[in-house]
Amino acid sequence: MKVEKNKVVCFHYTLKNTEGTVLEASHDGEPAIFLHGARNILPALEKSLDGKNIGAKLNVCLDALDAYGPRQEAKIQRIAVKHLKSADRKLRPGSIATIDTEQGQQQVTVLKVGKFQAVIDGNHPLAGQALEFDIEVSAVRDATEEELAHGHPHGPDGHSGH
Ligand code: ZN
Repeated sequence: MKVEKNKVVCFHYTLKNTEGTVLEASHDGEPAIFLHGARNILPALEKSLDGKNIGAKLNVCLDALDAYGPRQEAKIQRIAVKHLKSADRKLRPGSIATIDTEQGQQQVTVLKVGKFQAVIDGNHPLAGQALEFDIEVSAVRDATEEELAHGHPHGPDGHSGH
């Protein structure tokens, strides 16, 4: 079975920057999983995986535009601390928090924090970087009706749904 529209695909990956530093790797844990054709992953990555068979290995280099886009200074903003939700009980520079926006929840990085105001960076942590993925396709199966309706996979077996 190969990767095509409406298949659920699992793959292991190593993600590196242009200096060769490993930023993320899945090999010690669960593979990444996505519903092909549903834009669950970067479109350029999805395109590279199209038509590949189980066991296929590929190396994909993306410039920043095809990855997480350029860094935008406008995404660095001052915001009231009360609008930040975080697992960190005490916010500090580097804390990850979420804010509610018109497009839904957005993840941000706290740069500075005062008593009432904080400065946050809404750029994706990998924005502005060229990235290299080493990928191995580990599983491909048909998506269930429910997964197609939801537009995302429900775990490796398709039954851990919501
Ligand atoms: Zn769902």
